Amino acid sequence: MKFGTKAIHAGQHPDPTTGAVMTPIYQTSTYAQAAPGDNKGYEYSRGTNPTRKALEDCLAALENAKYGLAFSSGMGATDAVIKLLSPGDEVITGNDLYGGSYRIFTKIFAGYGITFHFLDLSDPTIIEEYVNKNTKLVWIETPTNPTMQVVDIEAIAAITKKHELTLVVDNTFASPYLQNPMDLGADIVMHSVTKYIGGHSDLVMGALMMNDEDLYKRLWFIYNACGATPGPMDSFLALRGIKTLHLRMKAHCENGRAVAEFLKTHPKVEKIYWPGFTDHPNHEVAKKQMRDFGGMISIVLKDADLDETFRISSNFKVFTLAESLGGVESLINHPATMTHGSIPKEVREKVGVVDNLLRISVGVEDIEDLLEDLKNALS
Ligand SMILES: *Cc1c(COP(=O)(O)O)cnc(C)c1O
Repeated sequence: MKFGTKAIHAGQHPDPTTGAVMTPIYQTSTYAQAAPGDNKGYEYSRGTNPTRKALEDCLAALENAKYGLAFSSGMGATDAVIKLLSPGDEVITGNDLYGGSYRIFTKIFAGYGITFHFLDLSDPTIIEEYVNKNTKLVWIETPTNPTMQVVDIEAIAAITKKHELTLVVDNTFASPYLQNPMDLGADIVMHSVTKYIGGHSDLVMGALMMNDEDLYKRLWFIYNACGATPGPMDSFLALRGIKTLHLRMKAHCENGRAVAEFLKTHPKVEKIYWPGFTDHPNHEVAKKQMRDFGGMISIVLKDADLDETFRISSNFKVFTLAESLGGVESLINHPATMTHGSIPKEVREKVGVVDNLLRISVGVEDIEDLLEDLKNALS
């Protein structure tokens, strides 16, 4: 089945009791048993719920994976993956990560004796220099947030296979519509469902997809034991959002290109990060592993200090100044004080998260209104 058909049908069947075409919201914590242990496959909703199960099967299908697990947030999903490890283990990861990932690695799991190496993965062979007998997992994000670096998933998978490391790809920025890391050799795909997959900024959710049955069982054990699982109402909302993922992504890509091209030559823009430009340093890799280039764009404002950057970012009428991304509405974000505020200034500035950087999530409004709003705010 093709992507749009899977988005609408995968994991979903008319309800066996009523024929309801849409998956019902099974708003229940527990399930009747005929005799102790004799149940219909559902016991308690922390571990299993039919609405969530339909969503998980749909998510797995979208990433060409066998198994899917939904979590109560993207961070809940990340937390479960790192709990596969033990004290003394080491992780290799990128140096330009979502701020919350950097925070959970350095402020939570480093304290449990897990070591993280934050590397510039634009040349994947650097991984070889850091692999030792304690290395267990490689965690990558591509395109990166917010400077839109693109990491070569296939090249990294060749290295992780050779050393028998688990490769996890945070695929939030691309969405499964633009990129499928399982097809390129990843062991686990992670998503913040909150963003493009949910698509309407009305829920917080995460997901993991994988093919290996043993890995699925170990992750399901953590999911059930630790309990960061979403409720049925949010699972229903995510399923509803997914039905238009392919339509929304086409519109995000089209508007993203128009906004990127408009900003590229704008006198107030010193630098622009968008992997669709042929002069983007990783454009060829992006072209190879992504179907299109998406609606996430970051810009560095010319000659703007923090005050002026704040003034410009508060000047929009259609774009909303807010954290998050991937919804139908366009958002502006100031990474240095918002999404990446938990990263120390010297660390973030090294990877380009400067005070005059703005990140734009281009929504699916009419492009004329978006360009007009940008033009006004920048002048
Ligand atoms: C938002 C985000 C996360 C965290 O997901 P939540 O749903 O907010 O917990 C992780 N990675 C990336 C790239 C994100 O954008």
